[in-house]
Amino acid sequence: MQYEHCPKCGRNFFPEPGFYYGAMFISYIGSAFFCLGFVMLLHWVFAWSLLASFVALLIITALLFVWWFRFARAAYFYLVAPYDPAMTKAVDAGDLDVPAPKPTSKN
Ligand SMILES: [Zn+2]
Repeated sequence: MQYEHCPKCGRNFFPEPGFYYGAMFISYIGSAFFCLGFVMLLHWVFAWSLLASFVALLIITALLFVWWFRFARAAYFYLVAPYDPAMTKAVDAGDLDVPAPKPTSKN
């Protein structure tokens, strides 16, 4: 479940259909460099075998992939979505009613 608007500043979390498609590129670029760096670190700096390095990579990516997926969405949102100070004032003043998350997800 995710808020449709930010409860603090009122920003729309779903500006258009398919908005979070762009988060895929953040996720891909970030995870590719992480995987390269992680295996290089273990293999070259700590002198682990290639097999051990890749097994460690599999374990760490299996543990972190949901967190990374959400992080990429949030990073993309903060990079791309516009911030409106007037909206924040309206939320603080209680003029803008921010609905709670609904059980059905849109994206
Ligand atoms: Zn906000």
